Formats: sequence, structure tokens, C-alpha cells
Amino acid sequence: MHVHEVPARREEVALWPHWVAPAVYSAFSTAGITALWSHQREAADWAHDGTHVVISTGTASGKSLGYLLPVLSDILNGASAPSGRGATALYLSPTKALAGDQMARLTALGIPGLRAATYDGDTPADERRWIRNHCQYVLTNPDLIHHSLLPAHSHWAVFLRSVQYVVIDECHVYRGVFGSHLAALLRRLRRVAAHYGSFPTFILASATVADPERQASALTGMPVRPVILDGSPRERMTFGLWEPGLVLGGGGSDVDKLNAPHRRSAVAETADLLADLVADGVQTVAFGRSRAGVEAIAASARRSLSEVDPTLGSCVAAYRGGYLPEERRELEKRLRSGALRGLAATNALELGIDVSGLDAVLMAGWPGTCASLWQQAGRAGRAGSPSLAVLVAGDDPLDTYLVHHPKALFDRPVEAAVLDPQNPYILAPHLAAAAAELPLTSQDGQFFGPSMGSLLEVLVARGLLRRRPGGWFWTRPERATDHVSLRGTGETVRIVERSTGRVLGTVDGTAAHSSVHTGAVYVHQGQPYVVTDYDVKDSHAIVVAGDPGWSTRARSVSAFDIGRIEQSQAWGPVELCFGSVDVRSQVTSFLRALPGGQVLGEHPLDLPERSLRTKAVWWTMTEEMLDAAGVPPSGIPGAAHAAEHAAIAMLPLVATSDRWDIGGVSTALHPDTGRPTILVYDGHPGGAGFAERGFRAARTWLTATRDAILACECANGCPSCVQSPKCGNGNEPLDKAGAISLLTAVLAGSAPVAAEPNDRGKTADAPRIE
Ligand SMILES: [Zn+2]
Ligand SMILES: [Zn+2]
Repeated sequence: MHVHEVPARREEVALWPHWVAPAVYSAFSTAGITALWSHQREAADWAHDGTHVVISTGTASGKSLGYLLPVLSDILNGASAPSGRGATALYLSPTKALAGDQMARLTALGIPGLRAATYDGDTPADERRWIRNHCQYVLTNPDLIHHSLLPAHSHWAVFLRSVQYVVIDECHVYRGVFGSHLAALLRRLRRVAAHYGSFPTFILASATVADPERQASALTGMPVRPVILDGSPRERMTFGLWEPGLVLGGGGSDVDKLNAPHRRSAVAETADLLADLVADGVQTVAFGRSRAGVEAIAASARRSLSEVDPTLGSCVAAYRGGYLPEERRELEKRLRSGALRGLAATNALELGIDVSGLDAVLMAGWPGTCASLWQQAGRAGRAGSPSLAVLVAGDDPLDTYLVHHPKALFDRPVEAAVLDPQNPYILAPHLAAAAAELPLTSQDGQFFGPSMGSLLEVLVARGLLRRRPGGWFWTRPERATDHVSLRGTGETVRIVERSTGRVLGTVDGTAAHSSVHTGAVYVHQGQPYVVTDYDVKDSHAIVVAGDPGWSTRARSVSAFDIGRIEQSQAWGPVELCFGSVDVRSQVTSFLRALPGGQVLGEHPLDLPERSLRTKAVWWTMTEEMLDAAGVPPSGIPGAAHAAEHAAIAMLPLVATSDRWDIGGVSTALHPDTGRPTILVYDGHPGGAGFAERGFRAARTWLTATRDAILACECANGCPSCVQSPKCGNGNEPLDKAGAISLLTAVLAGSAPVAAEPNDRGKTADAPRIE
């Protein structure tokens, strides 16, 4: 569809700062690093001066040097203190694997006098004690801070008294609900550190995202200085956007009904490209979105290569993550030696394995965010030779849009990593945890923000905290942190294997009715299970392993009540709003379908209605304007439903969300508004920031939604434009042409939504992206 040339970038070097400790300088220069790139120097200087900083530069641009220089220098300078630990530092990574790799690199530097260690759930108790009492640099993860360091902070008192830096690596990962949790966690950490007299400097490292300053400031709750000018050199890269062709008939279950075409899968197309490149001697990594997809890419490429030359087939491997460190190192070695010419991998490779300097990168489907796209593409590029990256579009409106609108990819990163530090559903349990760490006082509003007071009242009313003259206290016998999971909100439903009683995992309460109802086929880590009994009251689902040969899909009815309109904007007759809503949904039945899509039957379910209080963006239209646009009253349900599906699929273009984080409801006549209304909401209690971002970037978002549908050449709608894999109505009714007319009419009166400071005192929004 498109070929884009990413020009080479010249190197910008900088001198070493005079303040770097001699032992640090000599360790790096022995390792061959004798010059700095400009962004490394800039970040290092700011951090050394005590300014919070976020480094947001490309893959392989040496971000770690930017924080290691000040951190290691100050640790070594502090080693002359009587305790031997005048300065300590914490390093947080989202995965254990990444912390392990960082540790291995530090060890390889061999800096004399540096005592560093990883500290995670698997660290034995006696080792933990030694690390707490002696190490200057501790590499860990948010879960450990939450469950262990903060609840037992007195054990860490000596470490915390000297803590001078907190490094947060790969910070673009902390978005949505996880990001909001991390924001609350960092406020707890800052408060406990302040109790020991420490005010550490935060250094954040991020992939390139829109507005890293805003995200880093929201995460830490403090102003953070951005470093975004990348001084590392880059060779020329050719970037291709590839759309598989249409195949007639035989798609997913509901596709057959409409007899619509579907596209050849991104997996099949990528496997062919991988085989061609490997046969031509081009060392290539192909990224897939799922483990099954990665296995299929590798198997198919091996098969077609073996037909040409049996030895070639063995040069292709699959990498799915979850490997032991030795296995990962072995794989890296085979790639570097050239013994391995093709590798298919999930994005597990993004974190935890060092693969760079390949000739080509293939991506089977949009990897979810621009940050991931550039991280994956950045794996290609040897010094001195140009490289190739190809994005192969999957069967999805966002993929369709992107390969037809290269500007959205190449002109600038439009998406921002969003989070909401004031979400009461997330902040309240963290306040309870904070009270258990140290009794809360009204002074702590400086950390937790203006909503702290009202949330504490709620916690007292619910019997979780007690108000005493000295502040708010946690007085219950259980651990406060056990009430909080860092990756979800509210209740979870346990998946229990019938034969063994083993808990296989959990699903979020909001998704449970549709995914683990009695009779559901539930896929857990690639293995199918059938749910034999779903107990709503006790929040568990009993499952037996086995593949019945069909899949299931829940059907549901949804409606919503508008709570409070927080912001609104008139687009001619259209009213665009952001605010709080109650979404009510009830799973009413499920379908069983064969892999080819043939429906075996529909089975009623008797499940209670669920209510979700969350944040949403919605817009109301008038029947007159729609009629004038060619959508008669009888056509509104299909047009609105199709526009809703595509809008949900396109929201990740402006907010780094997954389609699964967002829901939608459309109605031809809403009782609250009295008008045709389309609503897109955050799928987590209290919201996660996605809908708000949709409101702020509404014109870009809805224009892209309309253009994505227009770009798809199918006749009546397909998964690449208006069909949704998670539709509770079995994708009916859907009117593709009506959706285009509806969105065009809505956009006719559109104005850019201005950035406006909101009542929560957050920093101003990103510059508009129109
Ligand atoms: Zn289509
Ligand atoms: Zn639907």
C-alpha cells in the first residue's frame, strides 16, 4: 500500500560530564563506550542536578546510560560514608526478565565497590535480608514495592534513608488501569521515603510516545523534564505497509450470514514474506500478536522453505517468551552467529531478550501502539547497511486505517499513554494501604491530591479506616495491600479446575459473565477449557480441560444512564460530551459455533444484570440531520451500531488502549438524551482515561473512524471495518454505508476540542493533533 523511507540520522555526540565517578568512567570506557550521545548527557546532567527527568528516545539509543551515569556515580561517591551506603537507588522494571538483563549488564561492567542485586518474589529470605542491609542498587518491580517493601518499610529504613534515585524503566507500559495503579504506588513510595527524610530524584525511560512529559508527570505526581532529542545514529530504513488481499466467503460466524469477504490473514501473509526473505539470505524477525500466531508463522515458513531446500527450514525458529535465561541467551547467540536466519516471536521479545542488528522486521498485525511498532521495527538495522520493516495489516479497522493512512504512522506519534491518578476506585484502596504503612494525615493531600479527603470519609464509613486525633488508621487484622491487585479494579473471578481444585487464574469481574458463564469455552494460556459451573455469588468458575470442537460467544443487552456531564462541546446539532455514566449489561445467551463459523445453536443463560460506573465519551445526533444525510429513521440502529464498532476499534489511535479496555453502546433513542446517541466507555470501574482522551481528540478520532470504513473495499461490512469480534448482538444490525453518512454528518459541524485545564488541577493537555 505504501513505502516510506525513514532517513538516516546523524550522530550527535557529547563530552563526558566532569562529575562522573572515575570508576564509572573507566568501566564504561573499558566496555568500549568512550563517547556519549547528546540525549544521554542531557538526561544525566539533569538527574545529577536533582531534576526529575524522562528520557524518551528510540530503540537501542542507550537510554540506560542516561540514568546509570548519575545513579552509579552518586552511589560510588556515597560509598565513602561511614555506612558504606551514602546513596542508594531503586530500579523498577515491568518484568522480572528485564530486571535480570539489566543486572547481567551491570555485572559485566565489573564496577568495583558497587553492590547491586535483583530483588523479586523468588529471592530467598536470607538473601533478601542481605540485600536490604548492604546493597546500594536494588533492581525490582512494582509488585514487590506494593506487597513487600512498603508494607514492611521499617526493614528498609536504612536503605530508604539514603535513597537518592528511583529509576522507572519502560514507563510507557504503565497506562490505563495499570498506569493509574503505578501512579498511586509511586505516591505511597514518595510519602514513605519522605518519612525517612528522603526525596529521591525520579528518572523515567520511555519508548517514543506523544507527550512523555505529561505521562511521566502524571505517574510521579511531580513536574518531570523531558529529553526527546535523540542523538544516536540510525541507518536508513525502508518501511512498507502491506495489506493482504480479500478472499471471498468463509469467514467468521457472522461473516457468512452477510456473505461478506474477508482478508487473507496477516499470519499467512507474514509467513510467506518470512520464507521469501530467509530464502534470499535476509535475516528477519517476524512479530505476531499471539503465541498461536507465532507458532503458525514459524511452521508455515519452515514448510515452504523445506520444499526449496531442507537445510533452510531448520534456520527458522519460534520464540514465545517464558523461556529460561540460558535458553534466551542461546537464541541470541544463534541469531548473532547467523545460524538462525528467521525468528517468529511474540512481543515477549520486546522485553527480556536482546535481538538487534537484523536485516528485516515483519509485523503480523498492528502491535497495539506506536511505541511497540517503533520498538519492533528498531530491531532491524546493522551498522552501515539499510534495513527493512513491513507492517502487515490484520483483519481490523485500525489496521486497515493505518495502511491506508501512512501519515498517521510516520508524521508523528499521535497516541498518548493515558492514565488517571485520581480514579477513586484505584486511589481509595491505595489510601487504605498507605494508612497501614503510616497513619494518614491531612498533610498527605500533597501526595494523593484533592480527592483524598472525601475518599478517606468513604473508607471510614465502610469500616476500613478509623479516624483518630492523630490521623486515619488501618486497624483491621488483614493486610491492606491484599485488597489491591495492581493490574485490575475490583473483584476477580477465580477459574478452578474441577479434577484438581487448582486455581488456574482469574478473570476480571467486569468480563466474567461473558467469558466464563456455564457452557463457555474458555481459553487459558492457549489451552481450551469448558466451564461446567459458574457461581456468581462466590465468584468462581469450575472448568474441565478439553476442546469440545466449538467456540462460544456470549450475547448480551446493554443500556446506560448518564450520570454527570463533565465537559461538552456543540458541533452544530451534535452534542459531544464527556462524563460519568452507569452502563448496565446483561448476558442473556451464548452461541456455539464451529471453527468455520457455522452456528450450532443458541442457549439461554440466567445471569443477573451488571452495572459499571465509569467514564465515557458520547455524542447525540438529531433525526433531522441524519435524515438529511441519507440515514432515515429506520436506518439509524444499523448506522449507529456500525459507527460505534469502528469508533471503539479506532480509539487506540489517539489513546494507548486495547480494544478490550473499551466498550460501547448505541441507541436510536436514548431516554436521557431523547436522541440517537453513541457512547464509548472505559471498561473499568471509575474509568481509565481512554474515553477522556477520545473526547479531547474527538475530531481526529472520528475522522479516522470514518476514513477507516471508507478505505475498506468490502461491500456490506467485514471485520476490517465495522464488524466486531466482541459484539454482544452478533454484529446485527450493521449498516456500513449508513455509518459513513452518519459520521460525515457528525463531523460536518466539528471543531477541534480545545485543551482546557480541568477541575482536577492536572497539567494541561497535549497540543492538539489536528
Ligand atoms: Zn470491510
Ligand atoms: Zn455490537
